[in-house]
Amino acid sequence: MELEIGNRPIIVYGAGTQNLRLAYQMLDAAGIDILYIVDRDTQKQGKSFWGTKIISPEKLCAFDREQSNDYTIIITVRTETTIREIMQFAAQLHHAEVTTFEQFAIEKQLNSRFIKINMIQTHVTDHCNLNCARCSHLSPISEDYFLDEGEFEASARRLSELLGDELHEYQLAGGEPLLHPQCYSFPYIIRKYFPKTDIVIVTNGTLLKHADEKFFSSCRNNHVELWVTVYPIRLDYEQVRAKLKAEKVKHVIGNSGVEDGTIKEMWGSAYHLINDRHGQENFERCFSRCFMLRGRRMYICAQGAYSDILNKAFGTSLPQLEENSVDIFAVKDREELVRKIKQKIPFCDYCNSIHRQKSIPFTISKREITEWVDPASLTEEDLKKYGGHAHGQS
Ligand code: SF4
Ligand code: SF4
Repeated sequence: MELEIGNRPIIVYGAGTQNLRLAYQMLDAAGIDILYIVDRDTQKQGKSFWGTKIISPEKLCAFDREQSNDYTIIITVRTETTIREIMQFAAQLHHAEVTTFEQFAIEKQLNSRFIKINMIQTHVTDHCNLNCARCSHLSPISEDYFLDEGEFEASARRLSELLGDELHEYQLAGGEPLLHPQCYSFPYIIRKYFPKTDIVIVTNGTLLKHADEKFFSSCRNNHVELWVTVYPIRLDYEQVRAKLKAEKVKHVIGNSGVEDGTIKEMWGSAYHLINDRHGQENFERCFSRCFMLRGRRMYICAQGAYSDILNKAFGTSLPQLEENSVDIFAVKDREELVRKIKQKIPFCDYCNSIHRQKSIPFTISKREITEWVDPASLTEEDLKKYGGHAHGQS
C-alpha cells in the first residue's frame, strides 16, 4: 500500500545519532524512499547511509531553490534545542514542510504500514559476561543459552526463501555473542543465504582480545562490521580499536553502530504487569521495533521475544511467546509473513515502551524486578510476590 504523503520527496535531517538508524529503518520498511540525509557535520557529508547520500545544509538550500513543488523534511534528532535550531534554519526554505520523525510516524501510522522486513536480529547467546542494570535484552536474568548452528541454518534458509534480497542488515547480538565458542560460524551461515546483506555483530568488546583467528577470518571473509558498545568499565577501547585495525576487521566503537565513542546509557523499564488495554495505541506510538528471529519464530521487538525470561526469573505471567510471534515455517509466503507481523501483539497491552525513561546512567544490575517492570504497575502484593531478586540469583 502506498503511503498518502502526496508523493512528496522525503529528506531526513540528522545523521549524527542512532535516531537516524531508527527513523531510516522504519521509513524504509514502510516503503518510503529517502532522497537525501542532511547533516551539518562535515565529517559525515559526502558519505552514505543505507545507500542514501548525506549532504550539507547548504546543499539542501540549493536543492530548495531548484524546486517548484513542496517536499517534506523529517527531523530525526530528538533533543529539543537541536530541533528548534533545525526548524529555524528550515524557515528560510521555500518548499519544505518540516516535521519531527515522531510526529510523522504517529500521524502516518508507520508501524501498521510497513511492507518490508529490512533488518533482523538474532541472539547468539542470551547471557552475558557483563551485568548491566535494565539490560533491554534481559541478559542479567537469562539462563545460559547458545544458538544452535543447525537450527539457525534451517531458519536462515527459510528466511532467504521468504525475503530474498530485501533484507538489508542482519545483526548477531545477545547477551555477549563472543561467549559462544562457535560464534565465528554464524556469519558464514548468513552470508551463504544472504549474499548482499550487511552483517553486524554487536559486542561489548571485552572478549575480543581472546578471540582467535577463526573469529577474525570469519569477520573478514563475510564482511562483518563489529559494533563495540562502550560501557564505563575497565576496558581500553583504544587497544580494542588497535586490535581490530590490525586484524583488518571493520568496526564501530560507540552505540548502535554510531562511531561517537559515547558511553551507553540505559532505558527505563519496558514491562508493565497490568493489561492497560491500550495495546493498539502503544503499538502505533512505539519506536522500539526490531525484528527478532528466535528459533523458528519471528517477533516484532525484543520485549515480546524475551518476556519468557522475565516470567521465568520472577514468576510473572506476561503473554506467552507464541502469541507474540509468527512461525516462519508456517507461513505460505513473504506476503503472509509481512501481513501477520505488522500487527500489534498481545504483549503490546503490557508494554511500557512509549513511556520509558531515557538516558539512565549505567549501573550494575541487582537483578531486581523493578529494573525491567515499571514500578507504577506493581502493587505491594506484587512486590511481595515477585520482589527481591530473580529466582536462582543472589
Ligand atoms: S553488555 Fe549489553 S547484553 Fe550484556 S548485560 Fe550489558 S546491556 Fe546487556
Ligand atoms: S510490545 Fe511494546 S515494544 Fe513491542 S511492538 Fe508492542 S509496544 Fe512496541
